[in-house]
Formats: sequence, C-alpha cells, structure tokens
Amino acid sequence: MLNILTVDVEDWYHPEYVRCKAFSRWEGRIQQSLKATLDILNVLGLNATFFVVGELAEKRPEIIENIRENNHEIAFHGYSHEPLWKLDAKGLRKEIDRFNCLIKEKCSGFRAPSFSLNNKTRWALKVLKDSGYRYDSSLFPAFTPLYGVWNAPTAPYKPSFENVTRKDENSKLWEFPLMVYTFKGIRVPVAGGFYLRFFPVNLLAKAIKRLNSQGVPATIFFHNWELDPQTPRLELGFFKYFVTYYNLKSTLKKLQRLLSSFQFTSVKEFMESHLS
Ligand SMILES: [Zn+2]
Repeated sequence: MLNILTVDVEDWYHPEYVRCKAFSRWEGRIQQSLKATLDILNVLGLNATFFVVGELAEKRPEIIENIRENNHEIAFHGYSHEPLWKLDAKGLRKEIDRFNCLIKEKCSGFRAPSFSLNNKTRWALKVLKDSGYRYDSSLFPAFTPLYGVWNAPTAPYKPSFENVTRKDENSKLWEFPLMVYTFKGIRVPVAGGFYLRFFPVNLLAKAIKRLNSQGVPATIFFHNWELDPQTPRLELGFFKYFVTYYNLKSTLKKLQRLLSSFQFTSVKEFMESHLS
C-alpha cells in the first residue's frame, strides 16, 4: 500500500508561532535544512511532494532547482506563509500567479500554511480549481487549538466547495487530509511535525497500519527545519515554544523508522497510479 509523503519547505522563521517575532533578525538556514531533507530521502530512495513557500523560491531559485534535480514534486505552500484566514480569494490568486512565474513546471498541489482550510476559508478551493490545481492537502480532520475540521473525512476525497466536510463526486479537486488516529472516538492528530516529535513513533506506525488495512493511504508531513540541529530557538512563551521546538532532535530517527517501515511516494505519483 502506497502512502503519501509531504515536506513543507519553509525557513525556521515561517511557522505561525515564530513568524511575528522573527522578522527583525531573519538569517535563513534553508540551505542546511533542505540539504538534510534531500539527503535522507535520497538514502531511502523516496520521492515526496515538496510544498514550497514562494518567497523562499524567489530569494533562492536554487531551492527549486535542488528539489527538481532530485525528482520530487514541487507544490505550493503560500507566498509568505500567510494562513488562509489572513487572505481572501483575490489575495490567494495573486500569490498563485507570483509562484507560477517562479517555476517551470505546472503546479498541481497546494497546502495552506497552518492547515488553515476550514468552512470559513473554503473559498480557497474554488480559487485552486480555477487556477488549474488538481489537489489540496490543507485539511486536518481533527480539533487542535490552531486549526482543524474535526468532522471532515479522513481518507482522500473530492470535497464539496460549499462544505468541506462533505464529498462531491463531481468536484474537480481532490483533498488529501492529514493523518489522524481515532482513539475512543477522539481523533488524535498524528500526521507529522509536532505530533511526530511528541508521540511515540509506534503510535504513528499503528495509525498508518490501521489506515492501510482499510485500503486508505496515510498522508504525513514534516518540515525541513525540523531536521536542522541548529534551528534557532526564540523565546515564545511555554506553549508556543513547546509546540514549535519540542524534541527536535528526535525527528531524524523517528522519520527514518517510519519511512523505512512503509511505502511512500509523492501526491502526484499516487494520483497517477491510483486516481486517474
Ligand atoms: Zn508551513
């Protein structure tokens, strides 16, 4: 069973809890963290979808080159990592156009910063479809303090543009919700990032196994900066510090364990082999 591996390509100052603090002293570490990411995927012989923040691609075109040379899929992660709830349809369209000018290939996939797709921001789906996108992977089908749609489908589906919790077989766009593990009726987010660092890796493996036994692919993610031992750490207050930096040193080992225990590929390859 093929699962879906995604990387959110951003610098250490892009995450939501860091963004507003870091602007005055942003010296990027994208080269180091992207190299670490490409290296581990090369060693494991895996292809992934790389959702890239547009302003990084503009500042450093070699990022796109490096990802492309390594045969990964290039997709879009917002221009300056603004969540959808800070944009509107016009703003997102502008961001998409700017990103299209930076890459040669046709971009088919989008992940909203901070998984900010919900029923208030569902307008984004129409913008994506009208811009020729084939899929979105912005929906976290669980409840969290920052994002999530607790009653959305947990397997890939074609979402209704009127209500993201409903399916619409006539829709032109696919949604790839992030992996959750249902325990005693509660959906626990376990798709990667903080959840990979916080939970025992066995729980994530169990979640993948359960989905696969139902014939459903798991969609997981990590950030390139989570593989950089020198990611700068800012004073953010306990909760935000904990979510952003907890157990960063565990990321590499846990990822290696997961990625070598199951089969993974990019969204593009998954769609070509399973959904066309
Ligand atoms: Zn992000």
